[in-house]
Amino acid sequence: MEMTIHGLIMKFFRNHPNQWVKAATVGDWVREQYFNTHGKHPANVGVNVNMLHHKGKLISNNNGYYKYDPDFEREGEFNDFSEADRQAIFRRDGYKCVLCGLGEQQGVKIDADHIKPRSKGGSNTLENGQTLCRKHNTRKKDYSQTEAGKRFFMNIYKAAVEIDDTEMIAFCKSVFDVYEKYNVDRHIRRPDH
Ligand SMILES: [Zn+2]
Repeated sequence: MEMTIHGLIMKFFRNHPNQWVKAATVGDWVREQYFNTHGKHPANVGVNVNMLHHKGKLISNNNGYYKYDPDFEREGEFNDFSEADRQAIFRRDGYKCVLCGLGEQQGVKIDADHIKPRSKGGSNTLENGQTLCRKHNTRKKDYSQTEAGKRFFMNIYKAAVEIDDTEMIAFCKSVFDVYEKYNVDRHIRRPDH
């Protein structure tokens, strides 16, 4: 049976579950297998390993090593609405973004969004789904990053307090002031108040 590059990469990782493997090591094996069955060399294997990471199939340590965790992959399979539910959400929302009202009639691409994100325990139910246009869906994803940013500065603040770095403490306080001024992520308590 002839296998694709992705198929061969996953075959390698399934045979080495829960182990950190260098992309180059996988590449050597895949190149050999691919050549034996296809009679030619495959396209860049490293790029394809990284692609599988971005698809949620492999875990990366951001240092050229990848790991296959069977439980992680299984979780990933349930990470989105079924196609039937997606269509039901679109139908319910009239095939248009619930925020701006633009949709397929205006030639705008729409997505089914999790109101409460999956990463925060939101479910794949119709009630937790809403139709968003690409712009608003992207914006929502970006917005969740302000939250990560605030937590990031909270860590810096705590470290600065420990070594009594007054300049960095003042800097962090100013950052928290900006969050407050624009009413962003108020549910996360700033550490200095
Ligand atoms: Zn919109």
